[in-house]
Amino acid sequence: MSDKIASTRTAADQAAPDGPHERVSTWWAEHAWLGDDSAETGVLIEVTGDRISRIERDVVEAPAGATVLRGITVPGFVNAHSHAFHRALRGHTQAERGSFWTWRERMYAVAARLQPDNYYRLARATFAEMVLAGMTCVGEFHYVHHDVGGVPYPEPSAMGEAIARAARDAGIRLTLLDTCYLAGGFGPGFAGDSDAHVPLSEAQSRFGDGTAARWAERATRTRDRVTGDTVRVGAAVHSVRAVPADQLATVAEWAHRHETPIHAHVSEQVAENDDCLRVYGVTPTEHLAAHGVLDSLASAVHATHLTDDDIAAISARDAFACFCVTTERDLADGLGPAADLVEHGVRLTIGSDSHAVIDPFEETRGIEMTERVASHKRGHFRASELLEAATVHGAASLGWPEAGMLDVGALADFVTIRLDSVRTAGWAPQSLLETVVFAAGAGDVTDVVVGGTPVVADGVHLAIPNLGAELTAAIAAVGA
Ligand SMILES: [Zn+2]
Repeated sequence: MSDKIASTRTAADQAAPDGPHERVSTWWAEHAWLGDDSAETGVLIEVTGDRISRIERDVVEAPAGATVLRGITVPGFVNAHSHAFHRALRGHTQAERGSFWTWRERMYAVAARLQPDNYYRLARATFAEMVLAGMTCVGEFHYVHHDVGGVPYPEPSAMGEAIARAARDAGIRLTLLDTCYLAGGFGPGFAGDSDAHVPLSEAQSRFGDGTAARWAERATRTRDRVTGDTVRVGAAVHSVRAVPADQLATVAEWAHRHETPIHAHVSEQVAENDDCLRVYGVTPTEHLAAHGVLDSLASAVHATHLTDDDIAAISARDAFACFCVTTERDLADGLGPAADLVEHGVRLTIGSDSHAVIDPFEETRGIEMTERVASHKRGHFRASELLEAATVHGAASLGWPEAGMLDVGALADFVTIRLDSVRTAGWAPQSLLETVVFAAGAGDVTDVVVGGTPVVADGVHLAIPNLGAELTAAIAAVGA
């Protein structure tokens, strides 16, 4: 917990030698994870501007002027896969039986009511919930681009701009993954046929740009308008269901040209695999790889129903696999092969996707727990490996290779977890990382710093102190 953040910040801040705008602040972490297999005790973190400029280990006491962080400090968690508006569905879709596809109908009903102003408010509150839970960076897989009926807004980037503004105002780092979404799903035809895909439904018409070329035009415009210190823009292919084969290369080329990440939902559903095999004769992973979508800045989101060849293909291209375990279990989607992927050298990341839960600890331990349930064995991953997935790998997968670690030169994004809560009490120094991964929860995060700026202190979001009320109002405003 930070002690008297306001006064110590004022005392510690001073002009750096290399410029009047580069503020220097000093933080003393009681414990910290610096990337090894165990935590350090007494770590000094000096921040200049938005970067870590010095790290000192074995600093027994907090120096005068340093902000004290009680508990354990780790790099900020990275939420590599989010659809912010899905937050409005939490608690509304559990009281009935159903499948992914019936859940999707409810989701479309909310999507139909989104406008730049109410989506700004909902996204800001959802992103603030993420920060409060310890997430300092989010990949927003954004596809509600146009007004009802697919009519472009007077400013075609209005929705993307609303999301970027929401992230800035919530204090979270953002990669806006501008998503290409052109078709309503697989049709009865085969590769090359005009009915291999069906057109967008009325509910989906807001997602579509018509062609990948027009998507690229709008994505470039959005990129030019929102990119900044804490906002970057990447690409996404919604899925092999939603982007016909002859459009994929345009999206991949755009991502390569701009050197941005490219994400895609991959094999979330068995039906998607079956249809892709029927239409193209290959799996979704093979199909995306053949069209240049899989590369070292690609993320296969979900990666649930993979073949051995799919795992080898993702590994060969050095792509990421983003696991969204709280969503996958909520939607009964199945278990992805996390251990097999890691054995093949694939870097895993985490995402809260539908926001059935926003808790990076739950997502992180969920990767191991899912493996345990499937294999009847414990101990597939070390706590430090799971933390890497949730921090440094997630940041790299979103095009922030300089984030996700407590290291000199890295972006100063870090969070502190209390060790005296009812969940974390009883910890031992030799298993502190296991306490973080397997015992802590979102409510144990006391302090969050993003780019050197405190966003959460003493468990309170500084810009939106009454976040529960704000979420209630923001969700009501989209009529959920
Ligand atoms: Zn998703």
